[in-house]
Amino acid sequence: MLLAISTTHNPATDLGYLLHKNPARLQTEDLSFGKGYVFYPESKPDHCTVVLLIEVDPVGLVRGRGPGGEGGQLEQYVNDRPYAANSFLSVAMGRIFASAMGGRSKDRPELAETAIPLSAHLPMVAARGGQDMVRRLFEPLGYQVELEGAVLDEQFPEWGDAPYVALTITGVKRLQDLLTHLYVLIPVLDNEKHYWVGQDEIDKLLKRGEGWLSLHPEKDLIVSRYLKRQQGLTREALSRLVAEESPELEAEEEAAAAEPRTERELTLHQRRLEAVLTTIRNTGAKRVLDLGCGSGKLLKLLMEERQFETILGMDVSWRSVEEAKERLKLDRLPERQRSRIEVVHGSLTYRDTRLSGFDAAAVVEVIEHLDPARLAAFERVLFEFARPSHVFLTTPNAEYNALFPSLPAGEFRHGDHRFEWTRSEFQTWAARVADRFAYEVSFEPVGPIDEALGAPTQMATFRQVEVAA
Ligand code: SAH
Repeated sequence: MLLAISTTHNPATDLGYLLHKNPARLQTEDLSFGKGYVFYPESKPDHCTVVLLIEVDPVGLVRGRGPGGEGGQLEQYVNDRPYAANSFLSVAMGRIFASAMGGRSKDRPELAETAIPLSAHLPMVAARGGQDMVRRLFEPLGYQVELEGAVLDEQFPEWGDAPYVALTITGVKRLQDLLTHLYVLIPVLDNEKHYWVGQDEIDKLLKRGEGWLSLHPEKDLIVSRYLKRQQGLTREALSRLVAEESPELEAEEEAAAAEPRTERELTLHQRRLEAVLTTIRNTGAKRVLDLGCGSGKLLKLLMEERQFETILGMDVSWRSVEEAKERLKLDRLPERQRSRIEVVHGSLTYRDTRLSGFDAAAVVEVIEHLDPARLAAFERVLFEFARPSHVFLTTPNAEYNALFPSLPAGEFRHGDHRFEWTRSEFQTWAARVADRFAYEVSFEPVGPIDEALGAPTQMATFRQVEVAA
């Protein structure tokens, strides 16, 4: 059985660093059930593909065991185990891609944290439950799904379709997420496991499902199938999953994530959103973007004003997209309201045609989450390709950090911040961007102003310069 993963991230050969597998070498791993091979059929800067090939030794598997069940000897030897993707593949991924699945990369740590264009191809998957099931499992995770079915035997069309499909999933994802999604969902599709499933399998599932499983619309089915339909285990796993997303916990988590502790007493977050909302409103914008929308607080405020006719929120975090949809109650809105708003999954570091044709874009507390190396890509995506008439962009003012008593000197306000700029650093960056892409820029402090250090948040307003004909 075989799994191929491709990327068009540039340079695509970084895939080798993410997987800790050198593109120039064929690598072989001994597994308890056969052998695993890793190789790169293609490794160029603009496109790179890695293949994990598993050779299952069916004879080795049954050697030393008594005659099997109903099928007897024959079924022990003649089955789909070596050919169609199943739990053997997941086990091999856990062994061979262990560090990538854990999100670790020695040489490219930032890239491991970055969503990049990825696709995974499985030429043969046992899709028990049909093609519809495959879609129901992968599409809610934000993948584009391509399927190719086959008839069981071309000579006997009356036998119907084979329970196997060729599957390709494509999305902008962190490699870690793609791998863990496949790790969990392949055996779920197969609806079988080659080993005994016990209590520790729950921990494995919850660990690999962290951040996505509790929000998946098919979580009951996933948990039940993953645990081989053992009711006791399934019940326990589901109750632990529900505990993970209890409302109090969620509210706390959200507050902590959106508002770093140091800023909480100021409800600075609220002020920032109000400031951005007021400025957008004053431009007369009708079509607005909220880029890096997080859990959708600004989207909610935008929805409340009739001036805004088309609203599009985007975030790279699948979880945030789901939270925003939940906050906005998207699936319960009356048609007229529903048609005004969309929340989509995507990354600001890749050109995206969905972002074209807007009057204004809010980018609130997002750039400091981007890798400095990806900032140039972001600038082009927003100011060159999406090119809204106005951009409202906020980021922390690093100078103000000295006034947060609980923040040690030199530290950032939030664990995920990649940088925090002083006022002059921000203004230099913004002026350069404005100049390069034909915008005018002005600056405004947001929050209480300290005479020496400025305000906690800085906002830049970019306005597209009309080019005279
Ligand atoms: N604007 C929101 C959220 C700010 S937190 C608010 O003010 O409440 C930063 C957000 O940026 C997170 O939701 C994070 O997932 C998102 N983000 C980080 N990198 C991104 C990228 N490359 N593309 C899109 N969103 C990104």
